[in-house]
Amino acid sequence: MHLRDFVWLVCCKVFNIGTSSSLLIEISGRCNARCKYCCRGTGNHESSLPFMPAEKFEAILSHLKEIGVLQRWHGTVELHNWSEPTLNPEIDKILAILPRYRQKGQLSSNFIAPWELAPESYHSLSTVIFSLCSLQEDRYREIYGADLHTTLDHFREFLEKRKRHNPKIRVVIHWLQYQFNLDETDAARRFFSGLVFEGLCFREYRAYLNDLQGHLSYCRSGGKEIEGYSLEGTKKDIDFERVERICANSPPRFSCGMKGPSFLVITEEGQLAQCCMVTSKHAEYRLGDILTMSKKEIVRRKKSCALSLCRECEECGFAHFFAGGNECEASTRDPPAA
Ligand code: SF4
Ligand code: SF4
Repeated sequence: MHLRDFVWLVCCKVFNIGTSSSLLIEISGRCNARCKYCCRGTGNHESSLPFMPAEKFEAILSHLKEIGVLQRWHGTVELHNWSEPTLNPEIDKILAILPRYRQKGQLSSNFIAPWELAPESYHSLSTVIFSLCSLQEDRYREIYGADLHTTLDHFREFLEKRKRHNPKIRVVIHWLQYQFNLDETDAARRFFSGLVFEGLCFREYRAYLNDLQGHLSYCRSGGKEIEGYSLEGTKKDIDFERVERICANSPPRFSCGMKGPSFLVITEEGQLAQCCMVTSKHAEYRLGDILTMSKKEIVRRKKSCALSLCRECEECGFAHFFAGGNECEASTRDPPAA
């Protein structure tokens, strides 16, 4: 670590300006799933949304390095937010750029399409996340609009390639619990432990809308409606009582780690976004072109957004919900033996 970075980290601690460093660069605006609670388009990803070209990706990393931001991160760039990153036709080029900046990449995939990465791309990856909610065909199809067996075949093919090209890649299963699949969790843990013998992390989350505006509209209306969703249908799938309990348990004066300048989300268009909870539907998705911003400007834009949006989000407890409140206690258990 450079002395400059060390001094910055000490200042962050002393002045409480946030040290939770994350860098998310959304390289794809599109997804091939149709999840009905996806915050980007509530099940309707527009095919016209762009992919980030490799050239732009490199320009962003180079700019962040130049303005003294890139060194602060932990060496991993998350290449996804609300999309399927492997659909980007330039993904191999993007992954080849990362080592030049001493970074590794993290990908989150639904594995609905086969992975076509070049063998050398596996060396640029530190973590691969696989999100799903059921190992039963009808339930899986209901949420994702895709075929479960084909998806699992693609995941198995990825595991084979990982074994050959880079067995060090950490594999994380994000298991989403809805009201209808609570009976499946233990079987799913056993299933994935049988497939991935080393480097597996199985995390359970209670599914939610993942939609900041939807949740805020729910709070504002006193639980009477959710903007863009059917309240009755949503309540069948999602345990709202639990969500409300977690939100209500938010510590007083809770300060969201994502609103600070050390949590950077950059959209597929190269815009700074306030956090990973806002999408192209929201104004906070476009805080300005990151390539034109100095470090001071990043701080200024995020701070001014925090004064309005974040205040409401923290007060209603949603910020706490997403800052770890939602992670099931069970997710810290070790996976059972196959
Ligand atoms: S897989 Fe993720 S990005 Fe794609 S529709 Fe589902 S929630 Fe949205
Ligand atoms: S407080 Fe809410 S809107 Fe603000 S950064 Fe945190 S999650 Fe995002």
